[in-house]
Order: sequence, then structure tokens, then C-alpha cells
Amino acid sequence: MDRVLGIVEGKEKGPLVICVCALHGNEQVSIRAFERVCDAINKHQIPFKGKFVGLLGNIEAVKLNQRFIDADLNRVWEEEYIEYLKVKPKAEYTHEDREMLELKAAIAEHDSDDYDIKVIADLHATSSENGNFIVVPPGIADHAIIKALHLPVVVDLDQYLIGTLLGYVVNHGFISFAFEGGLIGSDQALNLHISGLWEILEAAGCITHNDHMNEDHYANQLMEISSELPKQVKVLHRHWVEPTDGFKMKPGFVNFERINKGQLLASDDAGDIYSPYDGMIFMPLYQDTGNDGFFVVEEVTSIVETE
Ligand SMILES: [Zn+2]
Repeated sequence: MDRVLGIVEGKEKGPLVICVCALHGNEQVSIRAFERVCDAINKHQIPFKGKFVGLLGNIEAVKLNQRFIDADLNRVWEEEYIEYLKVKPKAEYTHEDREMLELKAAIAEHDSDDYDIKVIADLHATSSENGNFIVVPPGIADHAIIKALHLPVVVDLDQYLIGTLLGYVVNHGFISFAFEGGLIGSDQALNLHISGLWEILEAAGCITHNDHMNEDHYANQLMEISSELPKQVKVLHRHWVEPTDGFKMKPGFVNFERINKGQLLASDDAGDIYSPYDGMIFMPLYQDTGNDGFFVVEEVTSIVETE
């Protein structure tokens, strides 16, 4: 398996759009989504400005179809930690230390100031239903590229998730965000990622609407799903989980489902866990690994008026 999934390069100058697929090894539909879009551009010779690159995230974890090997590859992108890796004995590197340094080098290979804008879309999927949303670093929730995706934007999740790829590359001049397409392995996640990639390429200025309207067969699906979801939300509460807690989410919760203060949400070895707020459930944990049991979020109104 190669780190580089594919490259489209136009003759004309323009934006750089890097699509990172399967940073979590079990979230693989993004790989097919990138390949479909890439193939369509080549096959139909769609006029293209700038460069579109697909990079594979955690290669070894993809082979094993698991989230990660030693450490979550989307929690290790801290400047201090990356500095420390320069002196850390190579023999003590975790698997993800090596994957991160390789991915970082692959991004750097394409990074240059020649581009109009630089974008990194980090494609993910969730272990719960309705996992369609965008995670942004501060200040870009109202960017045209984010708006073009129409999905709920979680404006402050970055404060809770330390060491994410998007948090790192935003400090290196990229417009960056995590794009959660839906349930792991589902057709819906594949379709939303395909449609989303077309929207990202258009909003970035690589292609025009006319160029892709016949290619994007899932635009209606994206609009339909997003019409039922909030536009922007912020975090009210996170339930942190240690592996030894015996945490178990009650079955059946979907993202953005309304919940009430005092509602039974989960249990662990210490007993039942109730919602401390009225709000919406977000990212309920339905897989074995992860420290975020669930979040409670509430809708916020956008700072910039939408048309
Ligand atoms: Zn993920």
C-alpha cells in the first residue's frame, strides 16, 4: 500500500487540496470516495486548476482494519511531541510515531507558497448513526469551503480533542477540517464523501459547478441529510472514559438526537450515567476503543448571517 492514493494536477495554477483518508484504519470508505472522484476527473478530462492529492493515513491499521495499532493517529499531532520525536530513540517509536512522520513528510512534499489556498480535508466515519458533521479549528466555521458542505459544524470540539491533524496543519497555513461522512463502512458515508469532495473542489476553485454537476450523483442526499440537522453546535459536556471504567453506552442513540437533563445515557462499573444537560447527544461511543464516551452539544447561531 502506497501513502499516495493519487494526484490530479491541472495545467493552470490554483489551490492545493489534500485529502487524508483513513487516519483511523477502520474508516476506509474515504479511500474509495477519493478514488472515485479522482477517476471521474481523469476519465472525463474535467478542466482542473491547482493540485488534488489523496494521502493514506494509518497504512498498517488499514491493513488490519482497526482504528490504530499503538496510539490514536489523530491525537499525536502536537508541536512539542513532534519536537521530542527528534530525540526519542527510534527503537522506542510507537507504530503511529512512524506513520505520523511519514504522513507529515508526504504533506510537506506538496506544500508550497505557490498555491492560491491550501486545504487539508481529513475524512472520517463514526461508530454511531447520523455521524455527519464537520470539525473545524477556531475561526473557519464560516469559511466558504465549510459552508459548501452544508453539514453541522462543531465549532469548539478542537478544545476537547488534543493532538488532531487539523489542529496541527492549521498552524502551517492550511484551511483544515475533519469531515465525518457517517456510519463506518456505510454507503451513506461513501456517497457523502464523494459529494463532499466535489463541493470542496468547487469551493476551493479547482473546478466549476458545471464541471461536476453530472458527476455528483449524491448532492441531493447531502442536502437531505443536512436539512434535518443543526447548522452549528458547541459542546456543553464531555463524558471522559478510561479503558478500565467498564463504560457501556445504552444502545440506539444517534448523533444530534435530543436528550433531556437526567436522561439515562450509559453505565459503567460505578453505576448509571445520566445527562447533566438538556441538549443533543453527540459522538456516542459504540466501539471498544476511545476515551470520549459521549458529548452533549447545543445549537448555536452562526456569527455570519447565512443567505
Ligand atoms: Zn476517525
